[in-house]
Amino acid sequence: MADLWRRYLEQQIELGGAEVVVSGAAGRRASGAETAHSPISIAESTVLPSRPAEGTNRPAAPLPRWQQGAPPIPGSGMAIETPSHVLGDEMVALRSLDEIAERIRTTYCCTLCPTRINGVPGHGNPDARLVLIGEGPGASEDAQGKPFVGQAGNLLNGILEAIEVPRDSVYITNIVKCRPPQNRKPLPDEIAACIPYLHRELEIIRPKVILALGSTAAEALLGVRKSLGELRNKVHTYNGIPLVVTYHPAALLRNPNWKKPTWDDVRIVRQLLDR
Ligand code: URA
Repeated sequence: MADLWRRYLEQQIELGGAEVVVSGAAGRRASGAETAHSPISIAESTVLPSRPAEGTNRPAAPLPRWQQGAPPIPGSGMAIETPSHVLGDEMVALRSLDEIAERIRTTYCCTLCPTRINGVPGHGNPDARLVLIGEGPGASEDAQGKPFVGQAGNLLNGILEAIEVPRDSVYITNIVKCRPPQNRKPLPDEIAACIPYLHRELEIIRPKVILALGSTAAEALLGVRKSLGELRNKVHTYNGIPLVVTYHPAALLRNPNWKKPTWDDVRIVRQLLDR
């Protein structure tokens, strides 16, 4: 039991929770250098060991880790409807995710395409209840032709595991489907050329919830220029589908202070999925 409590306290610290002062060996370890911010620490998902329910010897049912102290679902933000002309006849003619993927792999739509190794279509469950949207492929994704398979992808796997959502149940895609040189942000004309694929992916899947990873994804989807701070902590709607905005996993690798707000955001997503 002491071990489980110690691990729980360590996780609180790693996730950026309030300082917890504990006496004894468990406390010493929990505040020690071994728990220095690990970018993958958000991945760990444990069940807090239950204390006996008041007045009984029976332990209360344990809550999954993600539910403990989860923030309430925030109020509504922007409501976006994709105008049908954004899609155009050519996109609407693509009847399935496989057809979209084939088109992305075999055609060029902007100046990013000629420098790619692979086009990187969305990947995952066609019946996904959750769609995650990143910015654009990096080097690993370009090499493998699949989204989020590098370091940021590992962290994303950990985040999904922490909210107990299997990666094979979700669909993951990007705003642009070809790698921008040196992983720079995609330019407005590159986004404009590629985003119809994304709108069509979302139209075909019609997920229950969308999670935008980072400001490029959020701004492109919502069609605004706002900071992440302004876009987080609200439930926007995209064609009637709840859309939550959080930090990009690559940003968390650079700045572990963003793990705690991200942890809150993804727990909001998890509650929206359960609603
Ligand atoms: N970053 C992204 O935005 N997308 C990927 O697929 C990988 C890293």
